[in-house]
Amino acid sequence: MLWSLVIGRVAGTAIRVHVTFLLFLAWIGFSAFRSGGRAEALESVLFIVLLFLCVLLHEFGHIFMARRYGIQTPDVTLLPIGGVANLERIPEKPSQELAVAVAGPAVNVVIAIALILLLGSLAPADISRIDDPGLGLIARLASANIFLVLFNMIPAFPMDGGRVLRAVLAMRIGPQRATRVASRIGQGLAFVLGFLGLFGNPLLIFIAIFVYIAAAGEAQDSEMRHAFVGLTVADAMETRIASVPAAASLEQAVDILLATPQHEFPVVDAFGKPVGLLVREDIITALRTRERDSPVLDFARAPVAGVRAGAPLQQALDDMRTSGAIAVSVIGDEGQLLGLLTPQNVAEMMMIKQARPDWRFGR
Ligand SMILES: [Zn+2]
Repeated sequence: MLWSLVIGRVAGTAIRVHVTFLLFLAWIGFSAFRSGGRAEALESVLFIVLLFLCVLLHEFGHIFMARRYGIQTPDVTLLPIGGVANLERIPEKPSQELAVAVAGPAVNVVIAIALILLLGSLAPADISRIDDPGLGLIARLASANIFLVLFNMIPAFPMDGGRVLRAVLAMRIGPQRATRVASRIGQGLAFVLGFLGLFGNPLLIFIAIFVYIAAAGEAQDSEMRHAFVGLTVADAMETRIASVPAAASLEQAVDILLATPQHEFPVVDAFGKPVGLLVREDIITALRTRERDSPVLDFARAPVAGVRAGAPLQQALDDMRTSGAIAVSVIGDEGQLLGLLTPQNVAEMMMIKQARPDWRFGR
């Protein structure tokens, strides 16, 4: 994610803090300082930092459970609205998805119980007094953890409760129908939230919009996964593509850009092997700062490892999403360039599948 700083690394997962989170901390500290001076500012910032530590531990609940099923998590980002663990993929098996989804809130249950034991007691009425400094730091943290559990178990995507609901449904009615039903329930819930927001807290309207979009996205994502089962990269790649020779100049790259409808070009060496990727924006940027005869390798993107033509399509798309690559060169057994995999191909395949669900790709 852009605008985030890596503050550490735990078991192979980078912990990122988004700049907006730091601004949020500064704002909390500043407003507490204005109303109650240094002591209150310190306590407010300490509370938020500890709260987000609980959020981070929640995310690591998901991360460590996913790791048990062989799913890695390259990074987790802290935003003012919470934590986002960037799991490589969601487990296909409903029982595993259920375990991964429940592991996060379970961490907050454990923290809440530990804090309440430490306190000796917590009145149920205190749970709604999270923002009341008179309650004491530990009681407020315990309340916040209980709130985190309740909020996350709302049965709508992107909350963990949505995944729990989907996984439980999938065990009975299969993954595809389960996703459709779960996302309908999520969208219905979003309407109720938005309606309540109209008469109460306007913040609910924002949460409702967020939930509605996430539910629709989840349904689409899962439909795509189903459509791509059994397909290889070779089925989806563009094969009639122009490439740019590694020895070409900026001027030649411009000519190729104009002569083709492509926006992404593999850069290939004398043996036809991809050594980099040139994107339209790279060429335009280079035009502003470089000479006509500058070699393309000076401003092409660092070579992304090519994907094998026979590799499963879903795996390749997951890798593309994790690495943020715009396009990936497809290579044959000798490492030679065979084609290009871009999001446009994938969108076209989806359109074909929607028009003719029984259409068979592959040749
Ligand atoms: Zn979670």
